[in-house]
Amino acid sequence: MLFDLVIGHELTHGFDSNGRHHDQFGNQRLWWHPNTVDRFIKKSSCMIMQYNNYTVKIHGETLNANGLLTLGENIADNGGVKQSYRAFRRSQQQRPNEFYLPGLNMTHDQLFFLKFAQSWCQIMTDEGMIDALKTWRHSLGKFRVIGTLSNFAEFSKAYGCQPGTPMNPHEKCSVW
Ligand SMILES: [Zn+2]
Repeated sequence: MLFDLVIGHELTHGFDSNGRHHDQFGNQRLWWHPNTVDRFIKKSSCMIMQYNNYTVKIHGETLNANGLLTLGENIADNGGVKQSYRAFRRSQQQRPNEFYLPGLNMTHDQLFFLKFAQSWCQIMTDEGMIDALKTWRHSLGKFRVIGTLSNFAEFSKAYGCQPGTPMNPHEKCSVW
């Protein structure tokens, strides 16, 4: 399943803020209809603001994530988990009698999202985190999880998150 997540992520890169500038042959060319570009920019703005609002406290100072710097990766994370989830559901339909893991009181959907979240577990020094916030094109692991899953209604359904709570906000961002 981890491979599904990675494949979904990488495929979405072809249609992110950088990938959209290239055609199917890899040539740099603007091939989208202007209306599509307009909608893409509008939807991307939502995601930029969403991630701009994530903060970490380091040495008593509050630092914000950079939604513009990480936009392409955030688009790929958000689109990727949706594609991966669709593939997961399809494989579930082919094996309707699959057993539940013993000792874990969790549904298959809950396990899917748990695995996604575990993929981004990380431990960093404060200095590493400052560097990551300023220069990385990937969001911090924590934001890759909460940013992506709080935008995905299927996650809220799986875990019973009430509307209007942090992981199931009324306003969700979606590019793909
Ligand atoms: Zn990526």
